[in-house]
Amino acid sequence: MKKVYNFNAGPAALPKEVLQKAQSELLNYQETGLSVMELSHRSPHYEQIQHNATELLKKLMNIPENYEVLYMQGGASLQFSAVPLNFLPSDQTANYCLTGSWSEKALKEAKRVGNTHIAATSKEQNYTHIPNSLNLSDNPAYLHITSNNTIFGTQWKSTPSIPSSIPLIADMSSDILSKQIRIEDYSLIYAGAQKNLGPSGVTVVIIKKDLLEQCSTNLPTMLNYQTYAKNNSLYNTPPTFSIYMLSLVLDWVEKQGGITKIEQINGEKANTLYHVIDSSNGFYHGPARKDSRSYMNVTFTLPTEELTTTFLQQAKEHGFVGLAGHRLIGGCRASIYNAVPIEDCKELAKFMEQFRTNFM
Ligand SMILES: *Cc1c(COP(=O)(O)O)cnc(C)c1O
Repeated sequence: MKKVYNFNAGPAALPKEVLQKAQSELLNYQETGLSVMELSHRSPHYEQIQHNATELLKKLMNIPENYEVLYMQGGASLQFSAVPLNFLPSDQTANYCLTGSWSEKALKEAKRVGNTHIAATSKEQNYTHIPNSLNLSDNPAYLHITSNNTIFGTQWKSTPSIPSSIPLIADMSSDILSKQIRIEDYSLIYAGAQKNLGPSGVTVVIIKKDLLEQCSTNLPTMLNYQTYAKNNSLYNTPPTFSIYMLSLVLDWVEKQGGITKIEQINGEKANTLYHVIDSSNGFYHGPARKDSRSYMNVTFTLPTEELTTTFLQQAKEHGFVGLAGHRLIGGCRASIYNAVPIEDCKELAKFMEQFRTNFM
């Protein structure tokens, strides 16, 4: 088989070792004679899988005792609705930082529920940076941020400073587990799994217990976070295979040396590509402002549409997959989540340099 370098934005690369482990257990999980996909979600074998995933996530991310880890479905996109439905009472205002398409979508859903306010935005500058000042509304219910802007290639470098009485809620779909964060800064974190955590199908939610107590009581059962907390995320059938894959990815992260080590490698990977862009005499242009550059999604453009098309075509011939920018903004994007090896980034850097010297 031809070597493929996977730079897909999501679903994205999974560690080869994880796929091999899943393959080896696919037909017979731990001598049960069954696949994980065939086990009851009430069986001790499955409960152990989910328990291991939760315990390992808590350990890797340093999640304190006063937080719950929940497994939900509907992707990050359902969280856009679940957050305001649970935590936006009619006499308060939900605050949003608009830093790209995903935060726009989150805001759109909150508007259906109640009062909203844009606390900061870089929309007028085409989302090329993370805003550095905030303007909160009166009586804010919470502040919502998108920690990494998958489409535009920008990332928050520190948490916005707000009074601790205001819950900070973050969509971390595309940078969870990629670097160390202080969980205590957040009241709720959510992430669709298909970028850094595993395959699609499961959404991880990390929620502070005192926020959990404030859930609206009038909601459909499956939209209420308390349903998941009270039933160990087993009120109904969870996405068992996705959670199994998550547990294997977490084992892999631990074997790599945990988040500290992963963060260091992610920095090297990103710098390898940004260096090619910055030393290209303007042939490659990175639209994201340097202080806001994402370490997960490296976006860049070429001088013309024609060159972009040629670049993408030749890249494909060389085995580089997933480099076309998002359909909304075009250009190119290399998504370099945890599972993308540094060697693949170096190969891409070499290819980009070669392509430039051929055309300049
Ligand atoms: C991919 C992505 C989403 C959408 O996730 P779904 O699981 O497809 O709903 C939302 N937010 C961010 C930051 C993303 O990267």
